[in-house]
Amino acid sequence: MKKIVITRNINPDIVDKLRKDFEVSVWEEDQKPMPREKFLEETKDAHAVLSMLSDKVDEEFLSNAPELKVVANLAVGFDNIDLDAARRHEVVITNTPDVLTETTAELAFTLMLVSARKVLAANKELMEGGWSGWSPYHMAGTDVFGKTVGIFGMGSIGAAFARRLAGFRSNILYHNRSESGAADDLGAKLVSFDELLSESDFVLCAAPLTEETKHKFDAEAFGKMKDTAHFINIGRGAHVVEDDLAEAVRTGVIAGAALDVFENEPIGADHQFVGLDNMTLLPHIGSASVATRNNMMNLCVNNIMEVLNGGRPITPVG
Ligand code: NAP
Repeated sequence: MKKIVITRNINPDIVDKLRKDFEVSVWEEDQKPMPREKFLEETKDAHAVLSMLSDKVDEEFLSNAPELKVVANLAVGFDNIDLDAARRHEVVITNTPDVLTETTAELAFTLMLVSARKVLAANKELMEGGWSGWSPYHMAGTDVFGKTVGIFGMGSIGAAFARRLAGFRSNILYHNRSESGAADDLGAKLVSFDELLSESDFVLCAAPLTEETKHKFDAEAFGKMKDTAHFINIGRGAHVVEDDLAEAVRTGVIAGAALDVFENEPIGADHQFVGLDNMTLLPHIGSASVATRNNMMNLCVNNIMEVLNGGRPITPVG
């Protein structure tokens, strides 16, 4: 029987689809990623791996698993995977595009509104008994309606985010390497990275993490943004130089930041962002609705079954 390793405790009903025809090994500790040593040990005779973005799919792992045919990554991003090494080892890599687009765009939109209207600070004040009464500028934030919104990475999620701006009469700018097919319908304008930064009241990062986009948001980039602007990141933490962002928020170079992702996850209460005013921080929950997570798991399982049964992967990468 071919062996499939699943590196997190996923929906057992979805795993059951595999058990009839395959030997399945599931890492059942919730919250904690499979330790690297266990990952290497467990996968050395595996034919397929259902991986998480916390698992490094690299040369060491691939050369240690000679039977491996497919790695199905439970994410649309695949910056945890060495695609060249996978090609050399003739291992198919799949991801989960589209099924998480709307859910992640909703979270990005939530972050923008929460940051603009100081929702978390206001909630905290009330919960801690610090609300002393109404006053004209108490917790006064900034409007989103009618503002300029800049999207770095106008792909599936960027476009879904832009569609949600329709009711806000926003001026939409974006920066990609090439023109987006969706941009015309959305009334969005392709601009340089610098123009995106200097013109936008809200800047959303929704690009994949690559050598080109790594640390793109540094002190220079934040320095080009308006001091009233908010930065929102649902891409990957390493798009940002975190020391520079902390400094920019602390010193008022920008008005606020709302982040779902961090360079080294998970972060703890000792992280430099924690406790900073005008910072909204979420524990990487962009695609975390139950329905979407189930759809992502199903897509991974279907990709694995296709490849191991001699068919074509549904959503291959590369
Ligand atoms: P996608 O459809 O592939 O879109 C990516 C967009 O980024 C494309 O429009 C691409 O346009 C642009 N891009 C790529 N390289 C660029 C560069 N160097 N400079 C400027 N733009 C660039 O991907 P998606 O499904 O929207 O997902 C985007 C990313 O969001 C994922 O890779 C993942 O890291 C992140 N994500 C996070 C969560 C979360 O939980 N927070 C959930 C889902 C996804 P060009 O090719 O024309 O440049």
